[in-house]
Amino acid sequence: MRFLKTLTALLLLLALAVPAGAETVVTSFYPVWIFALNLCDGLEGVEVRNLAAPETGCLHDYQLSAGDMRALAQADVFLINGAEMESYLTHVFDALPDLPVADASLGVKLLPSETGETTHNPHIWLDAENAVVMVNNLAEGLMAALPDRAEAIAANRDAYTARLTALDGELKETLAPVAGRKIVTFHEAFPYFAAAYGLEVAAVIAKEPGDALSPRELAELIATVRDLDCPPLFTEPQYADTAARTVADETGAGVWQLDPCVTGPADQVPLTFYEDVMRRNAETLLQAFGLGE
Ligand SMILES: [Zn+2]
Repeated sequence: MRFLKTLTALLLLLALAVPAGAETVVTSFYPVWIFALNLCDGLEGVEVRNLAAPETGCLHDYQLSAGDMRALAQADVFLINGAEMESYLTHVFDALPDLPVADASLGVKLLPSETGETTHNPHIWLDAENAVVMVNNLAEGLMAALPDRAEAIAANRDAYTARLTALDGELKETLAPVAGRKIVTFHEAFPYFAAAYGLEVAAVIAKEPGDALSPRELAELIATVRDLDCPPLFTEPQYADTAARTVADETGAGVWQLDPCVTGPADQVPLTFYEDVMRRNAETLLQAFGLGE
C-alpha cells in the first residue's frame, strides 16, 4: 500500500514537472537562442531554453553542468552552433543518444582557426549570410522535432531570413567605404565578419579569451600594432580591455568595441537583437575609421 502511495505521488510529481503538451527547445548559447526565439515566436506552449547563462559568452572551455544535462534530458530538440563551438558534444551524444540535435553550421563554408584548439573557426554567425543558412538549418531541426508546429515555424523562418538577407545587404553597403581596412580584434571572433564585409583582421589581442597577456606577448603585440601603422583596436564587451588599453597607450591606436553577439539580456530580449548588434558594429567601424556620423 505504501509502495502504491509512493508510486502515485511520484507519477503525480512527474506529471507536474512536465505539463501536458509542453514542448522544450534547448539552445547551446546566445546567438542560437536568438535565432530560435525568432523561429518559435508566437508558438504557444513551446519553451525555448538557453543552456549557457546569458553572460557566458562564447563556449570556449564551457563545461556541461548537471543542470544542463537535466535540461537536455527533457528537451525535444537541441539546437547548436556546430563548427566545433560546442566542444562537449560527444558527452551529450553518449548520455542522450536519442536526443535530436540540429547543427546550424551545416553547409556553411568554414574558415580555419588561426589561434584556437579547434581546426575551424566557429564564429560563423557574424556573417549575416551565414545566419540565413543557420536559421534554415535550425528550422529544419525544429520542424522535424515538432511536426505539429511546422507551418508556423516555416512562416517564422521565411520572415526572419528575409530580414537577415536585408541586413546582409545593408551591412555590405554601410561598410563599403572601409573595404580593405585592417583591424585588430580582441579574440578570434571576427574572421567571418571581416570576410563578408571586406575588412582584414590583421592581428588578434588574446589567443585564449580570458587569459591575461604575458609581458612578452604584450610587447610583441605593441610591435605588431606599430608595424601595422596603428589600426583601431577592438575590445569586446564580454572581456576586460586592459591589454587593448595598454597597447593603445603605447602606440596611440584608438580603442573601440565590437560585440560578437554572445551575451545579452536573459529575458524580454528584442527579437531584433542580432540585427541591432550587427548594425551597431557597422556604425562603430565607420566611426573608428573617422567616417561615422
Ligand atoms: Zn569566441
